[in-house]
Amino acid sequence: MNIEKIRSNFPILSTTVYGKPLVYLDNGATTQKPKCVVERLEDIYYTTNANVHRGVHYLSQHATDLAEEARNTIQKFINAKHNREVIFTKGTTESINLVAHSFCQRFCKEGDEIIISAMEHHANIVSWQLQEEIRGIKLKVIPINEKGELRIDEMKKLITSRTRLISVMHVSNVLGTINPIEEIIEIAHSHDIPVFIDAAQSIQHLPIDVQKLDCDFLAFSGHKIYGPNGVGVLYGKEHWLDEMPPYQGGGEMIKSVSFAKTTFNELPFKFEAGTPDYPDVIALATAVDYLNSIGLPAIKRHEDALLKYCTEELLKIKNIRIFGTSGNKCSVISFLIADIHHYDMGMLLDKMGIAVRTGHHCAQPLMHELGIEGTVRASFALYNTKEEIDLFIDGVKKVVSMFS
Ligand code: PMP
Repeated sequence: MNIEKIRSNFPILSTTVYGKPLVYLDNGATTQKPKCVVERLEDIYYTTNANVHRGVHYLSQHATDLAEEARNTIQKFINAKHNREVIFTKGTTESINLVAHSFCQRFCKEGDEIIISAMEHHANIVSWQLQEEIRGIKLKVIPINEKGELRIDEMKKLITSRTRLISVMHVSNVLGTINPIEEIIEIAHSHDIPVFIDAAQSIQHLPIDVQKLDCDFLAFSGHKIYGPNGVGVLYGKEHWLDEMPPYQGGGEMIKSVSFAKTTFNELPFKFEAGTPDYPDVIALATAVDYLNSIGLPAIKRHEDALLKYCTEELLKIKNIRIFGTSGNKCSVISFLIADIHHYDMGMLLDKMGIAVRTGHHCAQPLMHELGIEGTVRASFALYNTKEEIDLFIDGVKKVVSMFS
């Protein structure tokens, strides 16, 4: 990988903050956008803007074609069987809410159970808790071990005849753990239980083939994969999506409407109510093309080297605690040093131009489990460099010396 060339595609990386060169290590929260994505958006608004699926005129048809081509790009990217299994949403959160709402409405009765895990992001907790309120379903939680790995042995014990779905994250946004989703899916399927994969933190790092994985649902957000904000993807196997009722009403999701009876459109439109965010959908496909042009295996090798180097350097600092010590990790390091508050560390690093995340990372139950309020989190992307890790480590050491 030619990092300098890659970095030149991301103008924001050569900006300064407080007069210091920006070191952006908050990629788990959102990634920066390459020029091609921003230019694509500009181009669409300047040359192609028209509502999709609605007009007989040239622009509308052209915009529709591009948006549907973008669906094909995503289909290929995750190797979905059909393009109608790719639903565009606002992001991972909306994708999970959609499935929680529609799946539970169709398949869950009071007392039925959904299994999630102790390391989930709030999006994969609260969406199901809302269904607990509405439908009286019960949530069960897979515990983690001291390395921050899922206890698959315990997961097996949680499965009962009332289990309707297992919903887990692929990669933890706090611990960096890569969960054994292949094994989880195999166990779940041996009990005829479908599996939802939250791929918000994996899609930008690991090649994903939904047919090979055989997952039933999978979600990710555009903004974490070098694409635009406000757009995301829900993949679902056709037979599940076919049976599930629509999530929202209006726009292209109808076949016919009358006051006596409304019928719904076919997939994928049944789940895409209202005017779709087609410019972002199209630019998301540009981001995927960009990623493919570099190649996920090369990106993973680069990010793994950064993760290894950063972990080794951090471990040289006295009284450091790294949260998530699995041998199978990806692009994320969470830590605390002595009794330095995570906000203090984050704010002082910021003044040195270094952007990291601090706090509970939308995983408060995991923080309770770990017995902490929050962590400092550095997360890497394809454009980060060893030199940036050095600046980060120097920054952390400076903060430590200020407190000692
Ligand atoms: N799941 C995980 C694992 C995440 O890291 C995030 C974003 N932090 C989400 C879900 C929610 O993603 P979004 O806010 O883009 O919907």
